[in-house]
Amino acid sequence: MEEDRSSKFSPSKLSVYQNCPRRYQYRYVDKISRQRKTPETVVGVAVHSTFEELYALVTGGKVPTLPELHEIYDSEFAAGWDATVVEKDVRFAIDDWKKVGRDCVELYYQGHHPFSSDRTVAIEKRVGFPIVVDGHEYRIEGFVDRLALAPDGAFEIVDYKTAKSLPNQEHADEDWQLALYELAVRREWPDTKEVRLKWHYVRHGKTLVSVRDEAARAKLLSDAGALISAIKHDHAFEPRPSPWCDWCEYRALCPLFADPIRVAALPPAERAKDGGVKLVASYAEIEDRRKRLKDELKAVEAEREKIEGDIAEWAEAAKVSVVAGERAQASVTIKDEMHLPTKTGEAEKLAELEAEVKPTPLWAEVARLDGHALLEGLKARRWSGELLALAESLVARYGRLAQKRTVRLKRRADDDDA
Ligand code: SF4
Repeated sequence: MEEDRSSKFSPSKLSVYQNCPRRYQYRYVDKISRQRKTPETVVGVAVHSTFEELYALVTGGKVPTLPELHEIYDSEFAAGWDATVVEKDVRFAIDDWKKVGRDCVELYYQGHHPFSSDRTVAIEKRVGFPIVVDGHEYRIEGFVDRLALAPDGAFEIVDYKTAKSLPNQEHADEDWQLALYELAVRREWPDTKEVRLKWHYVRHGKTLVSVRDEAARAKLLSDAGALISAIKHDHAFEPRPSPWCDWCEYRALCPLFADPIRVAALPPAERAKDGGVKLVASYAEIEDRRKRLKDELKAVEAEREKIEGDIAEWAEAAKVSVVAGERAQASVTIKDEMHLPTKTGEAEKLAELEAEVKPTPLWAEVARLDGHALLEGLKARRWSGELLALAESLVARYGRLAQKRTVRLKRRADDDDA
């Protein structure tokens, strides 16, 4: 059974879990190292190091010229680019990538020179704070690219982004990496009035700013606690497929992709003999047959329904309840039945009905426990505190663990029979 033993969580670590628990497991529980160097990461690291050096110089009283800064960038880029860089897009050469970072440095330099609009308090500063979750103390920690003091006395938590895409303001207001750092900064300097979260999208020369109020900070803390609690209670770390899978460094290990990757690498002759491939071919055949039979059954059911209606009509007209055939006879019963709204039928009407019955003693007589909702709620950690503990205890005492196997066939897009 997998178990997370971390005592420290960074915002990016929490994000990994939020996006895909299995990726989290590989990286932080199993500690499988698969860090891939890409042109983007080389540019990102070189730009960050250049700005680190820039502000170290500015804090020391020396403002470098743009050529000097480019020189710093060039040497950082050269140090980062080696044979391990995985280049996916052959349209771009090393010099194209180098230029991407150089342009970022230039754009930032032109927009902020002489770098006197604020005072740098710290560069690449480790910040963190303790957080108590389910009675245990953990730490949330991370590194702030630059912490600055603005002329109005506000702290500014500055992050540099070399991403190609420029997110909108809504995205910035929802980001919680810098917002978690804000909680740490406020603990370190308790008399802090205002903290601004600032992202410099240096490819675009654009800065996004977000300010969080007290309610947003309280919610953030509780969300982070809930996430840590979910990690600590997770023993399955289910894969969560998303468009990010295309970039996931664990694809070859992931149960969703490992076998397709293995089979794709097999020579055609071996592929046809492969055990899994043969089983899936048989399964696809059976599924086709099942579908044909299902369609046939559907047609038979429709025919049957029609004939039942005809017999009932005939019996009604003849004023009989048994219609005789040569080798069998058909009994006909006609009665009125009341139907109440259902979840799938008329959900809104059902909600109205429930709202009326709930406050009455009738509710205890007719309502039933929704076991599915209890299990799903527990899985999604929908509750906290006493309610969560109660749900856990009920499931532990009354639940029965059984293995359920589900197989679903997904046809490949190039399958002619699909
Ligand atoms: S490939 Fe996708 S589902 Fe699998 S671990 Fe990576 S992100 Fe998760």
